[in-house]
Amino acid sequence: MTDNISRETIHNEAIDPDFIDAIVDAGADRIRTCIQCGTCSSVCPSGRRTAFRTRELMRKALLGLKDEVLSSPDLWLCATCLTCLERCPRQIKVTDAIIIMRNMAVAEGYMLPQHRKSSKKLLETGHAVPIDDANREIRKNLGLKEIPPTVHSSDEALADVQKIMERTGFKKLIEEEKEEK
Ligand code: SF4
Ligand code: SF4
Repeated sequence: MTDNISRETIHNEAIDPDFIDAIVDAGADRIRTCIQCGTCSSVCPSGRRTAFRTRELMRKALLGLKDEVLSSPDLWLCATCLTCLERCPRQIKVTDAIIIMRNMAVAEGYMLPQHRKSSKKLLETGHAVPIDDANREIRKNLGLKEIPPTVHSSDEALADVQKIMERTGFKKLIEEEKEEK
């Protein structure tokens, strides 16, 4: 029977002992009290439709599997609905922990292609979803100006957006692609 059990060894080099400290310091202060009860997974609407398992993510984070967690596309399957946060018996800010890990992932250069594309649009036009021809037409038919009075119609505001993206380092992050594991 035991011949059928496969065990995966976690190598020491895959473990970053500072990972969980960084998550705690960023605000998920009770994460170490996780008892792996699985309530977060059982109430997760995303987990009902995908392979995302919140409890597994918490476990990997607690083990310090930084690269594995940050490079995983699963990190982006959470819909930030807060249900797990409301139901966790240890009152762990699960959703906050996920957002913290997402911020870390982006800072490390891991970004979903869709997010990178939207971010590039933001850099080019000042909007993650810029106005398209169909919407221009709708505006025209409604008697509105074709271009809304947003960054779309202000070169100065667009320059400000681009300056903010450059000075915060976000421009560099969206331009430097890193392979997902
Ligand atoms: S519900 Fe809370 S205690 Fe239970 S596994 Fe999820 S994070 Fe851990
Ligand atoms: S906040 Fe995210 S992980 Fe938590 S229940 Fe909602 S979708 Fe699932």
